[in-house]
Amino acid sequence: MSHVYERVALIGLGLIASSMFWAIRRGDLAGEVTGYARSAGTRETARRIGLCDRVCDTLEEAVSGADLVVLCVPVGAMGAVAEAMAPHLKPGATVSDVGSVKKAVIDAVGPHIPEGVHFVPAHPLAGTEHSGPESGFATLFDNRWSLLVPVVGSDPGAVARLRALWEGMGANVEEMDAEHHDLVLAVTSHTPHLIAYTMVGVADDLRRVTDSEVIKYSAAGFRDFTRIAASDPTMWRDVFLTNKEATLEILGRFTEELFALQRAIRTGDGEQLFDYFTRTRAIRRGIIEAGQDTDAPDFGRAGAKK
Ligand code: NAP
Repeated sequence: MSHVYERVALIGLGLIASSMFWAIRRGDLAGEVTGYARSAGTRETARRIGLCDRVCDTLEEAVSGADLVVLCVPVGAMGAVAEAMAPHLKPGATVSDVGSVKKAVIDAVGPHIPEGVHFVPAHPLAGTEHSGPESGFATLFDNRWSLLVPVVGSDPGAVARLRALWEGMGANVEEMDAEHHDLVLAVTSHTPHLIAYTMVGVADDLRRVTDSEVIKYSAAGFRDFTRIAASDPTMWRDVFLTNKEATLEILGRFTEELFALQRAIRTGDGEQLFDYFTRTRAIRRGIIEAGQDTDAPDFGRAGAKK
């Protein structure tokens, strides 16, 4: 594949940026990829492992001359980074991001985008519980969805080019508006994470009562929760602070359902429990049939490395 962009700048060098770099390199999608991270330690690690063609010590150097700048920092940091880099953006460049929440990012970043620069927010629905520059791998986005969330007045040419980049990185691309995105993600990602955090927290409290039995006899259900609950605390703090409305809406519904099931257990309503679990099992089958997960008990992630 020929280059989609001559120069791409990745700002923030964690799981998503490093996976983007390896995927861009795999597909030969850009002439040069520059990278910047705020801490010297991360930049050093990036240089050591060959992450990015050029790791820059300043934000200005990284974005200067870039045709595409992708913000790969926590959602709560995007506004400040956008403000700092704005004066150095090349006219005609596109700014995008990979944030897990879209409305808050658009509100925080949008006002800093200079005249003549395009803004096309995006969100790849792919990740692991690992973070940092060494956690990325080229296949992370393969057959996963990447949602583009164009803002009012987004240039169709800029959107099409970003689509080509994500498709080149292996993703399936769909466009969605920000509000809908935030609601869908509250259901499919944000609330499940909160529930996992809670369940592991409950087990941790219980551990003090039962000694180490929670760890020792950790069965599949709990183990799967602990994997999700190991996700980056900064990223997830920011997700809940910025997708407040949609998460609270879904949590409200979740609580109602939980109470209904609690009541079914109390009253011994086996039929209700059986019907409910039959319905939910079909959803799992649908996800596997759609190719969004495998039937393997490790969720197919073993060996999914560089
Ligand atoms: P990560 O591995 O934790 O890396 C985050 C990067 O952002 C690091 O380079 C870090 O710099 C930098 N950073 C952190 N706080 C910052 C601040 N206040 N100002 C400037 N830079 C800061 O994160 P990630 O998992 O790649 O996530 C990046 C973005 O992708 C987030 O917006 C997240 O919502 C989104 N996302 C994540 C996933 C996932 O599963 N992980 C999936 C889809 C989208 P230092 O290393 O120098 O501290």
